[in-house]
Amino acid sequence: MSTELSALYQEMILDHNKRPRNFHGMPAANHHADGYNPLCGDKVTIYLDLDGDVVRDISFEGSGCAISKASASMMTEAIKGRTLAQVESLFSTFHDLVTGRSGGAAEPAALGKLVVFSGVREFPVRVKCATLAWHTLRAALQNQRQPASTE
Ligand code: ZN
Repeated sequence: MSTELSALYQEMILDHNKRPRNFHGMPAANHHADGYNPLCGDKVTIYLDLDGDVVRDISFEGSGCAISKASASMMTEAIKGRTLAQVESLFSTFHDLVTGRSGGAAEPAALGKLVVFSGVREFPVRVKCATLAWHTLRAALQNQRQPASTE
């Protein structure tokens, strides 16, 4: 990755950390779950308003490091309006990207802005920060009572 590209990615993560999108509770949510990443101390709650199998609305609350917060913020932007099948496919592509399983060559176009997290694959602890919101999203979809964990 070029230095300019990695600086741009860093800037986007810092921007979403400072001004997280969809960062609020949701009284009308029909699904929600809590997530916790013990390695870093990141906490997140995901709220979903599901209409059939379409994500009509999504928001989050919580506290944690810049990567966990930016990842939750960008995830909410990426999946609003999508079907559950699209969400599952995006999660799987994102997971491959941050764990380096996609080989690190071509960054899948489907991810859009989420490619900014490609750099975390060098840092196993950070992978958990980047995937916490996604694991919690999955727990919310399953109406899981136990907090989702990255462990
Ligand atoms: Zn973290």
